[in-house]
Amino acid sequence: MSQQHFLPFALPDIGEEEINEVVNAMRSGWVTTGPKTKQFEADFAQWLGGGVEAIAVNSATSGLHLALEALGIGPGDEVITTAYTFTASAEVMRYLGAHPVLVDIDPNTLNIDPARIEAAITPRTKAIMPVHFAGLGCDMQAILAIARKHNLKVVEDAAHALPTRVGGELVGKLASDVTVFSFYATKTITTGEGGMVVCRDADIAKRCRLMRLHGINRDAFDRYTSNKPSWYYEIVAPGFKYNLSDVASAMGIHQLRKADVFQQQRQQMADRYSFELADLPLLLPPGAPAGDLHAWHLYVLRLSDAATVSRDDFIQAMFDRGIGCSVHFIPLHLHPYWRDTYKLQPSDFPKALDSFQRAISLPLYTKMTSDDQARVIDAVRAILTGN
Ligand SMILES: *Cc1c(COP(=O)(O)O)cnc(C)c1O
Repeated sequence: MSQQHFLPFALPDIGEEEINEVVNAMRSGWVTTGPKTKQFEADFAQWLGGGVEAIAVNSATSGLHLALEALGIGPGDEVITTAYTFTASAEVMRYLGAHPVLVDIDPNTLNIDPARIEAAITPRTKAIMPVHFAGLGCDMQAILAIARKHNLKVVEDAAHALPTRVGGELVGKLASDVTVFSFYATKTITTGEGGMVVCRDADIAKRCRLMRLHGINRDAFDRYTSNKPSWYYEIVAPGFKYNLSDVASAMGIHQLRKADVFQQQRQQMADRYSFELADLPLLLPPGAPAGDLHAWHLYVLRLSDAATVSRDDFIQAMFDRGIGCSVHFIPLHLHPYWRDTYKLQPSDFPKALDSFQRAISLPLYTKMTSDDQARVIDAVRAILTGN
């Protein structure tokens, strides 16, 4: 076998359009939050079909923090989320002195199990944070019904869910309070680092915009372009520094235009994996229900009991063949901070634990060629069949 290049687990897909727009931002003299960010926000709201406000931030983590703050989540409050997520979903609750209440997943979808949400509600519960794992929509009908019944807020962690449809509707347009997208380097569209907060309620949007930039009552763009004296501003809250720069937004403007095509490419690649790996001792990830859309941020397979190789050895064997894999996720309750703070046992969330122990994320990104994917498929087959 000829020496092949290392196939990384993930790569961004950045074209000349993004590069030219970034250069344009840099030449314009306006590199922080300004006209490109305004355009990116307007484009994003329009891409969702309008009727929502889009607030650009420097990460989804920042956006989730702003969302919970705007909804009034504070010390001692409880927010229910999944154990099978990235730490950002839960850490933002701790920023506010609130507590994540973790619940287990539906082992078929790897998404939060709505039946377990209801069982976790206490008098202190204020909100639910579903995470659309890998880009497959959560059972939002059930989650929103629980929220309505118990008067809880819903903040969607949509870091994986661009574009995802649930019940035919795009995530970002559902009846939750706030939805937060991520443009981190490995996500389905990227600004390097970045995120977008989306909501319908004008007061929540206003609060997010205020707290995004130090609690200043006008943002820098207005400050330097309005006809009032430019030096004057008022601080009305101890805000954060969460704004997205125009350099980053310049990338985002063009990434967003490609989002639907990227999804189609990811869908085709996911379908090919699922077709070509179907006979192996694997649990393959489910597709979206008819009429819905899976963003396919991740392609997560799980080793079945019939597999004769361990998960860790499998990933090492892929690496030895020059292929990067990953694991999504190490459940929160296994991490020292969450385990020790909330006295959690591995067995507390058995479905999340079992899924983690079997999980392998294969490379899935639009810069992969057909040959790259064939190489991954051949390697998976060779490792699982012993030849
Ligand atoms: C990536 C990710 C985040 C955080 O996104 P950033 O933009 O890096 O802050 C939050 N939640 C989940 C589930 C993620 O995968």
